[in-house]
Amino acid sequence: MKAHRAAWISVNGPLSGGRNTLVLHRCNNKRCVNISHLYIGSDHDNVMDSIRDGKHPSVAVARKTHCVHGHPLSGDNLHLYPSKSPKRRWRGMQRVCRECHRQNARRQRDAMKARKAACSVSS
Ligand SMILES: [Zn+2]
Ligand SMILES: [Zn+2]
Repeated sequence: MKAHRAAWISVNGPLSGGRNTLVLHRCNNKRCVNISHLYIGSDHDNVMDSIRDGKHPSVAVARKTHCVHGHPLSGDNLHLYPSKSPKRRWRGMQRVCRECHRQNARRQRDAMKARKAACSVSS
């Protein structure tokens, strides 16, 4: 069992929906076991939410000609790669803005540091 799932159950008791009920992270940190960062949902909820918001890749990707920051998704700036994780197979082909990818990589390194600090239970 995943640590965050075990943490949820130890506080809130068994999950009524069994295996279909997921313990999800508000903080997007898969390893986080801080109970106040966790909430109950399902895979289906996740996908339906993103489709409704227009964020689901199959909706968003089809109509995107520019990234959210206005860089053209074409030519040298467009990077395509297939999603390898079986859990994320529904995402299919990913289209990535190279310029944003560069900027995100930098931002994520900083965010990761901040998250580690925010999620530590012992402190
Ligand atoms: Zn971009
Ligand atoms: Zn957290």
